[in-house]
Amino acid sequence: MSDVPKCPKCACEYTYEDGALLVCPECAHEWNPTALSTAANDDAPRVVKDANGTALADGDAVIVIKDLKVKGSSLVVKVGTKVRNIRLVDGTAGHDIDCRIEGIGPMQLKSEFVRKA
Ligand SMILES: [Zn+2]
Repeated sequence: MSDVPKCPKCACEYTYEDGALLVCPECAHEWNPTALSTAANDDAPRVVKDANGTALADGDAVIVIKDLKVKGSSLVVKVGTKVRNIRLVDGTAGHDIDCRIEGIGPMQLKSEFVRKA
């Protein structure tokens, strides 16, 4: 494998494989990458949380807490914009909310930039 993950303890990039384990030369941490990736692939229901850590659900209304530029246009979704009837999605680049914003149209938001209304 050429893609060896960084050390989870000290973030050192010079980790190497030693049998089934990965070893960090900086802090001597050894760990099993298979165990880590199994946890990451856990198919427990995904919970999408807003900026305050409140779980969001389909149909919720949220309020934007940060000016958000709309990709590919000069439009900006302003702080305080209320977005009704969101839909949770497994979008690209961390966009996990699908919605329609008045005056802008359909777009995807990141849950970290909204709070439940
Ligand atoms: Zn380390």
